[in-house]
Amino acid sequence: MIKLEKIKEERKKNKLIFFFKGSDEVFVNTIRRLIIEEVPTLAVEDIEIKDNGSALYDEMLGLRLGLCPIKTDLKSYNLKEKCKCSGEGCAQCELKINLKVAKKGYVKAEEAQSTDPKCNFVQPEMPITKLLAKQKVDLQMTAIMGNGRMHAKWSPGWTYFKKEPVLKVGKVNDIEKLKEACTDNVFDFKGSSVKVNQDQLYESNLLEYYTEIDSGITLDYTDNFIFVLESWGQLSYKEMLSQSAEILISKAEELEKLI
Ligand SMILES: [Zn+2]
Repeated sequence: MIKLEKIKEERKKNKLIFFFKGSDEVFVNTIRRLIIEEVPTLAVEDIEIKDNGSALYDEMLGLRLGLCPIKTDLKSYNLKEKCKCSGEGCAQCELKINLKVAKKGYVKAEEAQSTDPKCNFVQPEMPITKLLAKQKVDLQMTAIMGNGRMHAKWSPGWTYFKKEPVLKVGKVNDIEKLKEACTDNVFDFKGSSVKVNQDQLYESNLLEYYTEIDSGITLDYTDNFIFVLESWGQLSYKEMLSQSAEILISKAEELEKLI
């Protein structure tokens, strides 16, 4: 039976680290790929530029706006190909956002006005361009639902996994050398005693290295996976996970129909 167990939650960074127990590499990797490539979000796809006096030319401005994450309400928006309008564009698959600024200084994401108050740019302070006196930008964006397979701008976040390490400290040959090499606080040093700091263990990338420099350190792996999930802000990490599961179920059902 598959079990998920929380290790660490960093709300400010939109980051969740948890154990994936009772599964195998293939399944865990499927979930990872579904999250990055298939879970849909909103992103700017079309821009109608009425005025752009800023230092960035239109294409650059478009690229920047496309990469600004938009808070996505999955209940209200559909992928175009799955929408009732059959791809023509309607309020259930398109979101209009206006940006009209005519004052000197940085133009920030918070100055954009979305026609849906629930779905706005996630990072208010994100700079879009810069204006000098008497310059202005005036544009209308159309955001649509899409997924990371179409373009990375629709990816809801970043995720990776690794096997759970078990680091053991036996008789350390050279404490000073280990102390010097340990730059990620994986070990706690107190006099002649060396202990593993569990809080840092799962985020360390130096574990193999420690076993190489001192034979007193041994490393093993369990059958559990540590899954790191970081959201860009369009969706919560809970939504990212539950959506990936739903997509997997619908893919399995499609396959069943074909058989
Ligand atoms: Zn539609």
